[in-house]
Amino acid sequence: MDPVGVAAAPDAGPGPAWQSKCPWGAPKTASISCSLADVMSEQLAKELQLEEENAAFPEVVAVAEGPFITGENADTSSDLMLAQMLQMEFDREYDAQLRREEKKFNGDSKVSISFENYRKVHPFDSDSSEDEVDWQDTRHDPYRADKPTVTPRKGFIGKGKDITTKHDEVVCGRKNTARMENFAPEFQVGDGIGMDLKLSNQVFNALKQHAYSEERRSARLHEKKEHSTAEKAVDPKTRLLLYKMVSNGTLETITGCISTGKESVVFHAYGGKSATEDDKVIPPECAIKVFKTTLNEFKNRDKYIKDDYRFKDRFSKLNPRKIIRMWAEKEMHNLTRMQNAGIPCPQVVILKKHILVMSFIGQDQVPAPKLKDVKLNSEDMKKAYYQVLNMMQRLYKECNLVHADLSEYNMLWHDGKVWLIDVSQSVEPTHPHGLEFLFRDCRNVSQFFQKGGVAEALNERELFNAVSGLNITAENEVDFLAEIEALEKMNEDHVQNHGKKVSTFSSDGDPPIYNE
Ligand code: ADP
Ligand code: MN
Repeated sequence: MDPVGVAAAPDAGPGPAWQSKCPWGAPKTASISCSLADVMSEQLAKELQLEEENAAFPEVVAVAEGPFITGENADTSSDLMLAQMLQMEFDREYDAQLRREEKKFNGDSKVSISFENYRKVHPFDSDSSEDEVDWQDTRHDPYRADKPTVTPRKGFIGKGKDITTKHDEVVCGRKNTARMENFAPEFQVGDGIGMDLKLSNQVFNALKQHAYSEERRSARLHEKKEHSTAEKAVDPKTRLLLYKMVSNGTLETITGCISTGKESVVFHAYGGKSATEDDKVIPPECAIKVFKTTLNEFKNRDKYIKDDYRFKDRFSKLNPRKIIRMWAEKEMHNLTRMQNAGIPCPQVVILKKHILVMSFIGQDQVPAPKLKDVKLNSEDMKKAYYQVLNMMQRLYKECNLVHADLSEYNMLWHDGKVWLIDVSQSVEPTHPHGLEFLFRDCRNVSQFFQKGGVAEALNERELFNAVSGLNITAENEVDFLAEIEALEKMNEDHVQNHGKKVSTFSSDGDPPIYNE
């Protein structure tokens, strides 16, 4: 056994003899005061590793799991936010500097070198660029090249010595260039498409390969983000927007989640002290409805917005992110109409992108119960029925709206009355399916109150006529619905022929407004 090894153990007095002979002098770490047992301990090794990891990745782990911005953990949360904001700012500045350098480097030269690969923000990561530059918005697509000449099936064009086959280098090269169009829109192909550029098959195939792998990479990144939205309630971008609302005094604290639905997440918050941009006082308690940026859920709602003439012109040109913002915008407009008509509903506080802040229906963080969850005595039940009937009529007549998702799930019982919520999908009665939506609403309401023991409750067909002022006489549901669809079709034809919608459906007079 080597005696030096034993002597090197701590508490062995002055350094061993070999140290003085060592040409590099005594190692500094020789005086570590821990026993051999400590050094051998697995526990210590683990602790050291943890320490090291924490130093290398501070807080990163906490980001993913981190709870929401609340009073108790405001410190860590806001530090984190600040760090994220700073990093974002830093990356953007870095890229801006890079662009300046790139410009300087290239000058007026016809051939330019791209610094794109050195950018911090991967083009598919950059949300901001997605917001500002919306390729779908451009009416004229500058990247659209003329169609390549098609080679007929016989495989050649021309005659005699002017014959060109599909294997012709020039034709092939041009075709390849034009095919770059099919790459993902974010893929940078320069202005090659516009020029008379001839790409060899080899170059084209290499580019194609790269374009596809970039597309897959982008899809993966996107999926990751989407998942975080679904799992952790909000994505980093939403967090930042919410954080800004807290830091600028619109909100005091965001206390927690009230509801996670398929299409939205609702949070409770205490209102801040500063007034909104348009000088409205912020209610003491607020509900924040965050429209989910997960697109799948919205696909089947297309029909509500696509056919809504108010949004018609805008729909086709929008990217999915903007469509989601439009749902939030729609809910805001509809709530404002209802507010103006005096229908009990949340009051709009502020709209920021896909986040709608409104007054909270409930008290001390406890949301008012839905009609389906509350046990009303027969007197209150009857009162609620007449109120709902009255609200449906005013919604139709004064707000020119059909709720389109009205049921005991979207009516809250608070302060001895019914409040209507969830109106992002509400449409005007002249919407191509507006009357069908109204009929569905009527069926839900009628069934709920009839089952709830309200003897006076009209059946769905009577309710439909009472709300719309129409006088459809069909005795059964099938015929009734057929008449509704015929009316809708008539209206659509009118729109087609006259280029504008009719203001209301002709009726035999205004519906009688019911008051309790
Ligand atoms: P969803 O589309 O997910 O159904 P809602 O607007 O119906 O969205 O909101 C979901 C739930 O959140 C509601 O059922 C209600 O319990 C609660 N909620 C929404 N808005 C408010 C509000 N302003 N005040 C109190 N609770 C609300
Ligand atoms: Mn709802």
